[in-house]
Amino acid sequence: MIIRDKFYINGEWVEPVGEGTLEVVDASTEEVMGTVPAGAAEDANRAVEAAAAAFETWGMTTPKERQGYLQKLYTAMAARQDELGKIMAGEVGMPAGMSKAIQAGLPLQGVANFIKILDTYEFSDKLGNSEIIKEPVGVVACITPWNYPLHQIMAKLCPALAAGCTVVVKPSEVAPLTAFTLAEMVEEADFPPGVVNVITGLGPVVGEAMASHPLVDMVSFTGSTRAGKRVSELASHTVKRVVVELGGKSASVILDDADLEDAVRGTVNDCYFNSGQTCAAHTRMLVPEAQYERAAKKAVEVAESLTIGQSQDPKAKLGPVITKAQQERVRSYIDKGIEEGADLLCGGSEQPEDLPTGFFIKPTVFGKVTQDMTIAQEEIFGPVLSILTYKDEEDAIRIANDTVYGLSSGVWSSDMDHAKKVARRLRSGNVIINGGGFNMMAPFGGYKQSGNGREHGPYALDDYLEVKSLQM
Ligand code: NAD
Repeated sequence: MIIRDKFYINGEWVEPVGEGTLEVVDASTEEVMGTVPAGAAEDANRAVEAAAAAFETWGMTTPKERQGYLQKLYTAMAARQDELGKIMAGEVGMPAGMSKAIQAGLPLQGVANFIKILDTYEFSDKLGNSEIIKEPVGVVACITPWNYPLHQIMAKLCPALAAGCTVVVKPSEVAPLTAFTLAEMVEEADFPPGVVNVITGLGPVVGEAMASHPLVDMVSFTGSTRAGKRVSELASHTVKRVVVELGGKSASVILDDADLEDAVRGTVNDCYFNSGQTCAAHTRMLVPEAQYERAAKKAVEVAESLTIGQSQDPKAKLGPVITKAQQERVRSYIDKGIEEGADLLCGGSEQPEDLPTGFFIKPTVFGKVTQDMTIAQEEIFGPVLSILTYKDEEDAIRIANDTVYGLSSGVWSSDMDHAKKVARRLRSGNVIINGGGFNMMAPFGGYKQSGNGREHGPYALDDYLEVKSLQM
């Protein structure tokens, strides 16, 4: 059991004002693995005030000084990779080996990237008789989701600190434990008091207090489109900068000149990664009508080859979904798909027979899905793939763009120029061509209702900077 009963505010571990606790449940065993405080609005106020006071000096530090602190944070985080991976394997349910590589590894990579970026990033520029300087925005409220808990925090913390901002972090109440480990690493790295503050609690209580607080200059939010809209409304009263990274319903467009087997395998694996709980997951697979039967057969073959199991099972490729509530939500989408007439090709909403405990969902493939079905439009956030067919390329592009989201897309083709031509027509912030790898230096973010910011790499830094012109 991991018991956390204090918040990290102004460089100290302090008693929360909020009196309740929140239980953290291991997704594979359904056992309580830890508890954290349920903060009150007053906790958010204290943390924001500490961050505002710290900004007075931290905001004036040089990039070189900030780089030094990030370097120490990197060392502290590198030493605790095993522990971080293990905690998140429990909280999230991702198989342990993968959790260490991804859930613990990506945040470390993020810190390393910003150390590097600070070597070359230009904080000033000359334009005619003007000098343009980039200054930190100020106090940043970071509100994050549960699917990649530490990764989502670091995607905000690294550029914010590199820019010279101070932060209040509120992780998801469902997977909050590594935020406390992060606070310990911040302490070890000797950041000045108040530069990084960590509190926990429910979104409508602590998150809303942060989003509305007059001393917060920017809200950086990752989570559902529903909560992102609420945060944006609250932040608008004090005209804060708002950067939101929201949901997705991404399409993988398999062109008729693609290697079909490769493309289907790549799409299914992408869709199911982290049990389908990835904002950018390619959950709609678009195939030419003439290739539907072959594509459907291959998708089922790949889905059925994936071993599902508890996060500590070394054979598991796919873990459970994160909570009972999420399992029920995914099941209701599967039932809805069947009700609306999609072909259930494999999987289904029943608990897998050999895994009676844990929030498991069988890898599910729906065929003959049409654009008007709920499972083609709404984000399910579970291992559920929908196969849709298209008549010609124009039709494929139209279907791919026909949701309120625009986070990611995939294009598969044996001709790179052809793939790029189609990629340019897709209204999403990322397009993965032939399964191209995730690049932590490249900007990541959404079009339309998937958001408005860009995280990772040098482009992310721009979101945390104000631009000032000195006319001379
Ligand atoms: P969520 O919106 O329920 O919660 C996200 C965070 O917002 C949590 O910390 C929560 O406590 C807080 N929150 C909830 N209601 C709030 C409110 N009224 N005011 C302030 N804060 C509030 O999302 P989730 O279920 O934790 O995460 C899953 C969602 O996140 C999915 O939609 C997924 O697509 C999205 N996501 C997006 C990205 C991206 O980069 N675009 C990355 C990961 C996850």
